[in-house]
Amino acid sequence: MTMWSSRLSVREDAREKNRAPVLEHISSPNRASGQEAAPALALEDVHVTYPDGYEAVRGISMHVDDGEIIGLLGASGSGKSSILRGVAGLEKTRGIVRVDGKDISHTPIHKRSVGMVFQQPQLFPHRSVGGNIAYGIERQMSRAHVKAEVSCLLDLVGLSGFEERPVQTLSGGQAQRCALARALATRPRILLLDEPLSALDRRLREELSQELRRILTQAGTAAVYVTHDHEEARVVADRVAFIAEGQISRWVSVDGDFVQSDWKSSPSEQGVYVDGRIISVLPRNTLRVEMEAEVDFPIPTPLARHAGAGMPVKIRVELVGAKEAASAQ
Ligand code: ADP
Ligand code: MG
Repeated sequence: MTMWSSRLSVREDAREKNRAPVLEHISSPNRASGQEAAPALALEDVHVTYPDGYEAVRGISMHVDDGEIIGLLGASGSGKSSILRGVAGLEKTRGIVRVDGKDISHTPIHKRSVGMVFQQPQLFPHRSVGGNIAYGIERQMSRAHVKAEVSCLLDLVGLSGFEERPVQTLSGGQAQRCALARALATRPRILLLDEPLSALDRRLREELSQELRRILTQAGTAAVYVTHDHEEARVVADRVAFIAEGQISRWVSVDGDFVQSDWKSSPSEQGVYVDGRIISVLPRNTLRVEMEAEVDFPIPTPLARHAGAGMPVKIRVELVGAKEAASAQ
């Protein structure tokens, strides 16, 4: 049975039970109603301070759109895991964490609609592969439906037919696929992945990073993907934030060049401010802005050789801040 046909059969089964089937959380509820969609996840000036007083996350603001995969890239100790732990509710945060626009900063972990995948798969040793995946959903639906969902998720992660396998018999890569399926089973609005491939060897990492991208895209789940590997971030994510000392030092689109030496702090930390005027708000969260400016952008050094070349430039705007005074005019 192909993955698609098995998904269709699950879909029908689910419709009978008045429950949206797996893989159909592609569009958010507010987008379906035609309203402007809130991002799947938004952080507003979020801080994480550990009980010993160390502030590991120092004012992070970012958003993850529906179905978008954001990479967090940074050196060890830069605060990547702390950001995820704050979002998941595993650490206390200051600032606001929103899921679908709703402030969940004080919501208990299990009600946040956040799933996590860690570096180690942390599978339940006494459960089969299918039993691990069923864990979060088996009390919510009929056995037949759980079976159908598990089978569908196994297809999705490339483990078809593995239902009864003891988890001890899985290779490292297979175990991570199983952990991913388990995390997706509850259909979290946002999936947090903390270096899920770091324990695997290089070749497998390359192969699985492409697989991960396919799986997350196919599931339509918004995700934050933490890694210290540039190439992995480029393969998996739509946009990548460099994290340094608990802050976002800059954003990079994955079709731009990565510059190895550039990830600590760069002049772009200060941002580039361009005077302009918002003319209209277009569909798909697009602003039409009128601006007339000669702008200095801090760029990675390898691009310096293009000085004076007069080439077309694509600018990706990550943040538009409108001054109150300006918008009142
Ligand atoms: P990364 O995931 O980027 O490697 P972490 O988020 O794990 O970084 O850690 C960021 C900083 O917070 C590090 O300096 C680390 O030592 C510190 N840290 C992590 N966990 C704790 C803790 N439980 N108590 C105190 N400091 C911690
Ligand atoms: Mg970490």
